[in-house]
Amino acid sequence: AQTGRSRDEIVAARKASLLPNLSISYSEPIKFVRGDGAWLIDDRGRAYLDCFNNVCHVGHAHPHVVEAIATQAARLNTNTRYLHDNIVAYVERLTATLPPELCIASFACSGSEANSLMLRMARNHTGREEAIVLDWAYHGTTEELIDLSPYKYKRKGGRGRKPHVFEAVIPDSYRAPAEWPVEEHARRFAASVAEQIEAMRGQGRAPALFLAESIPSVAGQIFLPPGYLKEVYAMVRAAGGLCVADEVQVGFGRVGSHWWAFETQDVVPDIVTMGKPIGNGHPMAALVTTREVAASFNNGMEYFNTFGGNPVSCAAGLAVLDVIEQGDLRRNAAEIGAYLVDRFRDMQARHEAIGDVRGMGLFLGIELVEDRRSKAPATALAKKICDGLRRRGVLIGTEGPHDNVLKMRPPMIFTRANADHLVAILDETFGAVLAGRQ
Ligand code: PMP
Repeated sequence: AQTGRSRDEIVAARKASLLPNLSISYSEPIKFVRGDGAWLIDDRGRAYLDCFNNVCHVGHAHPHVVEAIATQAARLNTNTRYLHDNIVAYVERLTATLPPELCIASFACSGSEANSLMLRMARNHTGREEAIVLDWAYHGTTEELIDLSPYKYKRKGGRGRKPHVFEAVIPDSYRAPAEWPVEEHARRFAASVAEQIEAMRGQGRAPALFLAESIPSVAGQIFLPPGYLKEVYAMVRAAGGLCVADEVQVGFGRVGSHWWAFETQDVVPDIVTMGKPIGNGHPMAALVTTREVAASFNNGMEYFNTFGGNPVSCAAGLAVLDVIEQGDLRRNAAEIGAYLVDRFRDMQARHEAIGDVRGMGLFLGIELVEDRRSKAPATALAKKICDGLRRRGVLIGTEGPHDNVLKMRPPMIFTRANADHLVAILDETFGAVLAGRQ
């Protein structure tokens, strides 16, 4: 029997004592009491297939990760001013997954902290504060990162774009002007970055950094056209700026073919930031950079982060890498992801509302439209599908400027059977919703 407060009591207690800005998923909130692999179990014993939460990278409550955390916590947890094996073991394992230039790391406790440190480094290295970001991006919760997050500063509660921030358009091939040949998408979208560099120049400014997710996720699971980052990085570097890849959502092998999503664009960033999946839920984050950028940051001021890089966090990080490597989970992500894209495309052939299907490994999006010619976003439909899936025990999300993209990031251990379940329930839900039911 489950103990604890009822769902209604928890909602009331949250309302009474927690910041009202905390949101709750679904109009009928769910109380989860246990996680197990790809499944979450609620207070009534019902299991939900988790296809959304990319933090539990190798599955909820993975025994190897849980044991690593518990064993280290029972022995010692302290800070980086004392010597410990775990931080050096972890930094060696982590940098071994990256191109050789990216060889110096720092640890933090959240993606926001990693991005904040990144910003200090980029500003320190260039002596400038200007940033180029992609429209509708999100990079973190601190004041200076909200300033770099159009997704926040443009929306309700935001205070608009600050003068040091320059926005390039989302390189969204699905919504590119029809007259652009596909093979020119990279160059045409990159022109927007060139325009921003020009705009800066007109104001006597220049970029400290170009910051982008390697697959813009909040913008709606957007896959950069091949060659895009190569074009952009060349322009930014020519203007003296650093190139930063935010891999907080998309890193750690999620794309299957590579460890890092920037690798699919055949570039090497100057700084990469990581978070969410790094500790499978343990609060942990990292920044990896070049020797040169790290050297310029070493200006005499200590960088100390009380919890960052502690032995327990590094034990969690090591265990996550063990599970990915020993379970060949990148290959699994590639195979299951490709299988899902094929099944979604089958579904697209049956449902006019599916405008676009896109995915790489286990990072997937289905864009819903009113009709395929106008591509008018089907926002209400996306919400109904997402709610219908929840009713049927499958968790996904919606994303994009119009919230019309079904977003899926299942754990790396997702099986063929899990994939078939997702596809079956998604198909059933489409059928029901399009027939005017729930
Ligand atoms: N960057 C990206 C791309 C993110 O999605 C997030 C979190 N949603 C962050 C940074 C910030 O990470 P955190 O919430 O761990 O501070």
